[in-house]
Amino acid sequence: METDLETFFLMYKKQSKRIKVNNAIQKIFHRIEFNTNNDCWEWQGRVRNGYGYCYFLGITYAAHGFIWMLVNKEEPEHHIHHTCENKICVNPAHLEHLTATEHQRRHKISEKSRRAQMEEINSGIKILFEDHGITTK
Ligand SMILES: [Zn+2]
Ligand SMILES: [Zn+2]
Repeated sequence: METDLETFFLMYKKQSKRIKVNNAIQKIFHRIEFNTNNDCWEWQGRVRNGYGYCYFLGITYAAHGFIWMLVNKEEPEHHIHHTCENKICVNPAHLEHLTATEHQRRHKISEKSRRAQMEEINSGIKILFEDHGITTK
């Protein structure tokens, strides 16, 4: 999958003839590491509040937002959500452009499913205890 990043860069390089832009982008690309376990492109540069930040021609961007802009060739109008829930990930395939309302809804759903999962585990443990004659509250 590392070749994907390479292909992506070469594709972008072809589009832009400006050396300065290419160098700045190359610097950003060098801060991305591919994690084969989760397919995430993980940001190795500056991190704040869990999110990666990059510097491009005098402006600081959220790294995932920057990569999203490169791929989509436009500035995001709304929020960029991580479908992988990995905040340092910049893989465009793991990024979704959502309205604030939809974004909030997604987070609520994932919180709900996480809680449901915990409840399932807890009840499983309870059954296991009871099977062994240990009472739980
Ligand atoms: Zn990811
Ligand atoms: Zn999100």
